[in-house]
Amino acid sequence: MVYCSNCGTQIADDAYFCSKCGTKTDKGNAAKAIYPPDELRDVFYQVGIELEKAFNTAARETHAAIKQAKENWQQKPPQPQTVTCSKCTNKNPNSAVYCYSCGTKLAPNEEPHGSA
Ligand SMILES: [Zn+2]
Ligand SMILES: [Zn+2]
Repeated sequence: MVYCSNCGTQIADDAYFCSKCGTKTDKGNAAKAIYPPDELRDVFYQVGIELEKAFNTAARETHAAIKQAKENWQQKPPQPQTVTCSKCTNKNPNSAVYCYSCGTKLAPNEEPHGSA
């Protein structure tokens, strides 16, 4: 009899894997035994299910978060509250045309001047 190097379980001389924990035995290593494909497939199948569950949960949460963000966006469209003077970097009210600190004409944020 031999003993599992991982869990110490007594296993058959000709066993390639521990019957308790699945660790490959010296004999298994010597024989270059590979883990049974069916077993691996089961493992991957289980992992796949868990991943799918996790992904679906994440997708739902992400969707909810996007929806919430959209609602917030629609309720409070972000607008710059100040216009920064390009000359002295003073922050002026959004409606200011001239910097109240240095008198420089402020560049409007988004006001197209026809490029004629
Ligand atoms: Zn073992
Ligand atoms: Zn200024």
